Amino acid sequence: VTGDAYNQTDRTRVRRLAKRGAYDRATVHAILDEGFICHVAMVVDGSPVVLPTGYGRAGERLFIHGSAANRMLKTAAQGVEISVAVTLVDGLVLARSAFHHSINYRSVVIFGTAQLLTDPAEKNAALRVISDHIIRGRWNEVRPPSNKELAATSVIAVDLNEVSAKVRTGPPIDDEEDMAHPAWAGVLPLSIQPGEPAADLQAGEAPVIPEYVKNYRRRT
Ligand SMILES: Cc1cc2nc3c(=O)[nH]c(=O)nc-3n(C[C@H](O)[C@H](O)[C@H](O)COP(=O)(O)OP(=O)(O)OC[C@H]3O[C@@H](n4cnc5c(N)ncnc54)[C@H](O)[C@@H]3O)c2cc1C
Repeated sequence: VTGDAYNQTDRTRVRRLAKRGAYDRATVHAILDEGFICHVAMVVDGSPVVLPTGYGRAGERLFIHGSAANRMLKTAAQGVEISVAVTLVDGLVLARSAFHHSINYRSVVIFGTAQLLTDPAEKNAALRVISDHIIRGRWNEVRPPSNKELAATSVIAVDLNEVSAKVRTGPPIDDEEDMAHPAWAGVLPLSIQPGEPAADLQAGEAPVIPEYVKNYRRRT
């Protein structure tokens, strides 16, 4: 890894509203770390498909896992080109004109090929990365994967080389002549917030709710 930014390539150059594009690692990492769902695109048997899935990041690598029978993972493991997007929605931008409505967001687009992890220890470590990424603290408490479960699970790694971020912030940008139009204008902030944990009582009385569940990604 060299430098603080990803090199721009022909396909990662943000064209429209280029000032919203970002290539520095800090911005990209922060978006990847706040999100935990990505959309993976690839061509399978001649037809494009986009599938949503969870992921984890460690350094300059993204890990994606699933059933060993998973078609997306099987195809990705053959080294085909894939593209991965991560999207965080921060708010609805309500302008005075229909035309200037927008969304405040932070997003990342990645291009690359995936490598299939075959070493069980490496797979196990990657699964921990994904678990920690989605809910830190969980892995320490649960029964770890058995060898059979590891064998039934595929894990792919995507290196972060060809990457772009795009960020929109701020109020609506209306045309001067619309400023007198009497529609309410502004930003409606949106975020993912945890609800009340609902214990599973199938095994009897539930243990105390752990801190990492009670305080899950709570913004203060
Ligand atoms: C939540 C959300 C809602 C959006 N709504 C709209 C909408 O309604 N209409 C609309 O036109 N656009 C919308 N966008 C922006 C959209 O993602 C594209 O940026 C936009 O369509 C510009 O296309 P382009 O022709 O410049 O991009 P292209 O020329 O296709 O993009 C060139 C390269 O720029 C980079 N890039 C482009 N967009 C992004 C991105 N969002 N994040 C990271 N890298 C990117 C990629 O590397 C891409 O390969 C939205 C984005 C988000 C996250």
